[in-house]
Amino acid sequence: MSSPLHPWNDNLWQRLVQLRVQLPHALLLHGRAGIGKLAVAERFVRLLLCEQPQAGGSVACGQCPSCHWMGQGSHPDFRKLQPAVLEEDDTADSIETPERKSATAGQQISVAQIRSLNEFVHLSTHRGGLRVALIHPAEALNNAAANALLKTLEEPPAHVVLILVSHHPSRLLPTILSRCHQLRFTLPDPTDALAWLNQHKVQHAAACLAQAGGAPLLAQQLAETDYQARRQAFLTGLLQVSVADSLRLAEQHAKHSMVELIHWLQQWQHDLLSLQLTGQLRYQVDFAAQLRGLAGRANLIRLLAFERRLQAARASAQHPLNPQMVLEDVLLEYANLFV
Ligand SMILES: [Zn+2]
Repeated sequence: MSSPLHPWNDNLWQRLVQLRVQLPHALLLHGRAGIGKLAVAERFVRLLLCEQPQAGGSVACGQCPSCHWMGQGSHPDFRKLQPAVLEEDDTADSIETPERKSATAGQQISVAQIRSLNEFVHLSTHRGGLRVALIHPAEALNNAAANALLKTLEEPPAHVVLILVSHHPSRLLPTILSRCHQLRFTLPDPTDALAWLNQHKVQHAAACLAQAGGAPLLAQQLAETDYQARRQAFLTGLLQVSVADSLRLAEQHAKHSMVELIHWLQQWQHDLLSLQLTGQLRYQVDFAAQLRGLAGRANLIRLLAFERRLQAARASAQHPLNPQMVLEDVLLEYANLFV
């Protein structure tokens, strides 16, 4: 019994297995959200802790006491650190939906969690093997927590392996980065990603894969019916581009997640700009015909300014003071693209 390995991560998995010969104290697995980093990390933890690895040491046996404890989520030599908000919803892979990017306490890994980890790594192991900790996502470490972690990274006890998983390694302290052996996950080939989505019976696979920027596990999550219905309703509203339409759309969606709305608007703006400059679009492929029509009418200078406006809105989208006012403002500027 082992965590599933997504086919596009097979090469990376082989590299990890080879690292066992001379195992670094700290590993950083990084790459886009929604491509299976966490699944690989968890599979590797199982392998490291397994007492009788199979297939030349490349697969956890699934039978030994260690594998049994991992299956139950109760291995005494393993700790998983993640923000409290992810504890409640531990089913998904390393998906980072826009809502999960916030700076509120529940979405951070706290210094208390790292202090408890520092105690854990200095204990002797229960099974005489390794002690392993998984930190996911590492960018959720707040400043104090990151500094506390550095102490362990600087003087790692023997028999301890720290595995950090990150969607945004640029947000990590350089001192943390420099102490980790880094492995970068890349996006799968679109054909392979699509084949996998079809095999898993994901509806509208190509459109969802585009919306997910090519990340298959994120695409699988976005295929959820409610999400697509919300998205369709909002994007359909963007097809009408008068002041009155903008005000009505803002009123209709004022109670909606601003993070989600701004995210869709950013993809929409990107597609409009891209269509004007290159004739290609990337994200909202199921609206290709409508976007082409709009792109032909949009003012390029204002379209570029709108990108900056959306970036600013995105920065405060988690806690807007007055969501309807912000949304009205943004949508009026949107209508103005086509005047
Ligand atoms: Zn085992």
